[in-house]
Amino acid sequence: MKIAFFDARSYDLPAFRAEGEKRAVDYRFFETRLAPETVSLAAGCDGVCVFVNDTVNAEVIDRLYDQGVKVIALRCAGYNNVDIEHAFGKIHVLHVPAYSPYAVAEHAIAMLLTSIRRIHKAYIRTRDFNFSLDGLTGFDLHGKTVGVVGTGKIGRIFIDICRGFGMSVIAYDKFPAENSGISYTTLDGIFEKSDIISLHCPLTEETQHMINAEAIEKMKTGVVIINTSRGGLIDAEALLGGIKRRKIGAACLDVYEEESDVFFRDFSGHIMSDDTLARLISMPNVIVTSHQAFLTKEALENIAETTTQNIISFFSEGVCDNELCYRCGQVDSCMKSRRKKCF
Ligand code: NAD
Repeated sequence: MKIAFFDARSYDLPAFRAEGEKRAVDYRFFETRLAPETVSLAAGCDGVCVFVNDTVNAEVIDRLYDQGVKVIALRCAGYNNVDIEHAFGKIHVLHVPAYSPYAVAEHAIAMLLTSIRRIHKAYIRTRDFNFSLDGLTGFDLHGKTVGVVGTGKIGRIFIDICRGFGMSVIAYDKFPAENSGISYTTLDGIFEKSDIISLHCPLTEETQHMINAEAIEKMKTGVVIINTSRGGLIDAEALLGGIKRRKIGAACLDVYEEESDVFFRDFSGHIMSDDTLARLISMPNVIVTSHQAFLTKEALENIAETTTQNIISFFSEGVCDNELCYRCGQVDSCMKSRRKKCF
């Protein structure tokens, strides 16, 4: 099985090389992203392996199909960058539903603590032998209300950690988990009552710009917003407006709406052309990490193992539990629930 591996980074290689050798999957690593301009690199391959910022739109899918590619193996959970409906009937799409929800939930907490205890400022100060405490006053998490949007795998671990801090947790989910002991409210309830809001739901047409100017208006002054899910959940311009008006106390962003143009690359020494991102980063109460929440040793090993197993199951066993299609979960038409390929 020959698999063209796009957007390959140094941290991907050890685990994928080891899995590939162990299980006879021939990964061909390309640093470039999958896009209409690079799709021809997959010629002669049985599948492609892609990540969050590869472009897998209708054009790319048609060209992969014409080249004889049979499978798109996502090495991530989210699939908002894949035109799932267009792929149906042509190329099968596999993903890694969970690799380490702990990695992402713990990163969200790391960003929160860094932000509200001003660790990012203190770190730079003490390196310069500046031991003054002026401007470093934080606040206790204990007793604060955290609003969690999306109570799936990551959201629930985040909730457990927050409870350990003595925080009061409220949550919103389109599909609330029954008998979970989670106190659910409406989305407006989250906006109105939370001191801290953390997003853990997928990016869909419905959730696009869930945090916009109108939502921000409903929030408490000084609210802290954490986004480790997908950049498109937040209207970045509206967020910037809320920060400038001092309505938003802090923002912790591991994802950004236009991240595909900049994240995972080194632009130090260059002029940053994205004014909104540059402005956000310049704010003392904004912390940006470049889609790094997943990046732990455990997660990387699990990603390589599950992605490789998905490919082997698909080609050798003819079915893969982690296949995706736009009909998945629909009672009358879901083939996966009948242990079959999606089409
Ligand atoms: P999950 O599928 O287990 O949980 C998602 C939850 O969101 C579910 O409970 C679902 O019911 C809920 N949901 C769906 N539509 C909703 C809506 N319209 N409003 C509110 N809730 C809604 O997913 P997960 O593993 O917990 O991952 C959550 C998100 O984290 C993913 O969608 C992905 O975008 C993101 N993620 C980011 C990183 C990173 O490195 N930053 C890594 C992994 C996942």
